[in-house]
Amino acid sequence: MVVSFFESFFEIQKEVHQAVFAWIPFSFGDVFYILIGVFLLYYIVISFKKKRRHFSLLTLLIGVNIFYFLYQIFWGMLYFQTPIIKKLSTQEEPTTEKAKVLALKYLEKCKKTRSLVKEDRNGIFIITDLRSIQKEILAGQASLPKSISGKKAPEVNSFKPSLFRNVMSFTGILGYYNPFTAEAQYNSQLPNTYIPFTSAHESSHQLGFAREQEANFVGYLIGINSKNSELRYSTEYFTLKSLLNFIVEKDPEFVKTMLENYSPQMKRDRAYEKAFVLQHQGWLDDFFGFTNNLFLKSNQQEGSVTYSYFIDLLLNYERV
Ligand SMILES: [Zn+2]
Repeated sequence: MVVSFFESFFEIQKEVHQAVFAWIPFSFGDVFYILIGVFLLYYIVISFKKKRRHFSLLTLLIGVNIFYFLYQIFWGMLYFQTPIIKKLSTQEEPTTEKAKVLALKYLEKCKKTRSLVKEDRNGIFIITDLRSIQKEILAGQASLPKSISGKKAPEVNSFKPSLFRNVMSFTGILGYYNPFTAEAQYNSQLPNTYIPFTSAHESSHQLGFAREQEANFVGYLIGINSKNSELRYSTEYFTLKSLLNFIVEKDPEFVKTMLENYSPQMKRDRAYEKAFVLQHQGWLDDFFGFTNNLFLKSNQQEGSVTYSYFIDLLLNYERV
């Protein structure tokens, strides 16, 4: 009851927020976060002055409470929605055998789609038209299976490159949704293989799917049958990587063979992704030691354990 109230509330909030913020050419949400940071810092500094301590601590307390309250009603309550897995016709545990069958299927799809897209002079996949990918994602939201998403797809373009792209590259964040402005931020520095699928993932948050792995699944549904080959390649490639991540613990030999069977184009894309991660991770590891790993785990972006709910959804959806 309470949750369905917030689901309806989210529909209205989405419309209002997008009308207010989507047209702004940069991420207004990022500016908002910077202002919050300045506000916090200012009142923390003043709280060291005896005379104004009482006032500044009270302001901080009220500020933090308002922020938390807004976060909860704009977003936090959506974590209590019915899980997508309950909406699928089966709820079977994923098995390595099934995952292997799908992985082989997705390797073939990736190879085929990769041969249709453009590459730079180093032979790495590049996006030629981000706008049309974004349009395609929004159209995809509107044609999701009704049994999985009953949410309104307003088809408002509110994708924004993040103002914090350097920080993102070094911390391994691909994108994020801002619940205060309903904008979808992505890291424009990322290897292009990530960008279309990350956009589809963040747009699923915009649609109203809060859980990380469900946003992956909805992003997958949006991208997998797309006529846009750049979006489709990025989605197929993400799906393949997720499957291999799931399989690798049980059967590393299989994964090794799969990687060897990547097409030369895919091998170049993979090498480029690895170089990007290494280049940035190296810097972070030098300064913060283990934080990056911890971060990735808590952020549920990497790590085979947290991939499994997406795999659950995928294997129950694509029954093999
Ligand atoms: Zn997400």
